[in-house]
Amino acid sequence: MHVIEQEWEKIIEYLRKEFEIQNVSFATWIKPLQIQGIIGQTVYLKVKSSAWADYLKARYSVLLRISIEEITGKTVDIEFVVEGDKIPYKKYETNESKRSGLNKRYTFDNFVVGNNNNFAYSASYAVAKSPGDVYNPLFIYGSAGLGKTHLLHSIANYVVNNKLQERVVYTTSEMFTNELIETLKSSKGIASMDKFREKYREADILLVDDIQFIIGKESTQEEFFHTFNHLYMARKQIVISSDRPPKEMKTLEERLKGRFECGLIADIGAPEYETRMAILRRTIEQKLWERYSISDEVLQYIAMNIHTNVRELEGALTKVIAWCKLTQYEELIDITVAEEILKDFVSDSPEKKISEDVLLEHVAEHYFVSVEDIKGKKRNAKFVIPRQIAMYLLRDLTDLTLEAIGAILGGRNYTTVKYGIEKVTNEMRNNKELENSIKVLKKILGK
Ligand code: ADP
Ligand code: MG
Repeated sequence: MHVIEQEWEKIIEYLRKEFEIQNVSFATWIKPLQIQGIIGQTVYLKVKSSAWADYLKARYSVLLRISIEEITGKTVDIEFVVEGDKIPYKKYETNESKRSGLNKRYTFDNFVVGNNNNFAYSASYAVAKSPGDVYNPLFIYGSAGLGKTHLLHSIANYVVNNKLQERVVYTTSEMFTNELIETLKSSKGIASMDKFREKYREADILLVDDIQFIIGKESTQEEFFHTFNHLYMARKQIVISSDRPPKEMKTLEERLKGRFECGLIADIGAPEYETRMAILRRTIEQKLWERYSISDEVLQYIAMNIHTNVRELEGALTKVIAWCKLTQYEELIDITVAEEILKDFVSDSPEKKISEDVLLEHVAEHYFVSVEDIKGKKRNAKFVIPRQIAMYLLRDLTDLTLEAIGAILGGRNYTTVKYGIEKVTNEMRNNKELENSIKVLKKILGK
């Protein structure tokens, strides 16, 4: 049973109280609602007629979504279906479930190709066009922020959109590890292990991002090795990314190294100046930021000074735009202003401090929420956990005081911050998954 079904009574009770729904309205409209099905992100509710559907949609749709999110932490859409009508099971089910975990924005179309990534791009594209045939496994490596994840998602999106294969599974070695930990401690024993294996071993194409984080975990490596063999023997496509080539992965088992090396290995390097400019221009185009005119000079300043990481390149641009919005800056901003705004990004000191913006962006990305949500007021687990982790990491990796962290995180009191940090610290002692995730986040942040 889906959690939304399990919690349905609580959800509508929350709705009644929170939005002060009168008893009569509640009994007429809300109480009789039944869940017909839940597919992907959409909850289908059964109603008597299309007139009912219209009214409910106008009056209660948003309230229902909020209540569901408050009680279960799930963000959903609501559709009302008239009794007797079938819900479009097939159509939604395949599309949504295949897409799970994939970012639609990451496609080949909006990947800027330069000398640094041409080879990895071409190999990825070839693999996407005929999975399992050309390069197997495909191993892509490069430092952080250079587009590995973007390419992996592009392959997966391409395969899904063109219906080339049914089961496209994207995971990170962290997710794989956490799922395995979860499976091993599950009370359902063999049944849950079977389920775990089925998910990975019946994939038509398996993409594993950031394999370097599997290092040092023997049982995970063992399980992954078997998954790999299984798929490889069945001629299923495997794509792996890492921050370094297989031979430099010191604690990776030799046999896994051997497997990785038998396919195609493609590296991504730092983009050249021209490519950096092209990426900045593309970003501006996509986000429709023309309204804030950024001079070429400023783009050049950014491209000149940030050379090793595309994420930071985009982050710098975002920061300049955010600053313009915030201060309602009317003129074309010039380099001196940009320099001031970007001083954290551009500092060249070897002991480069972690900027709070970069840290928050990483935490947000990691937990599939936005930075605004982390700073915001929403209180369900989906947001509270990354928020508390952000508190913990800000305290651990920067010199900021509790007060300052509270201020950054949407003006919270320092006791809230203190509580959050303690909670994460305690939880980490008993929760291997959390411990693993924090380790991974720190590594991503270069600590
Ligand atoms: P990695 O996984 O290697 O750390 P990502 O794939 O997450 O890096 O890339 C970081 C950000 O930079 C993403 O927003 C991604 O879309 C963008 N990016 C990286 N390379 C390119 C590129 N060649 N063209 C367009 N965007 C890029
Ligand atoms: Mg990545």
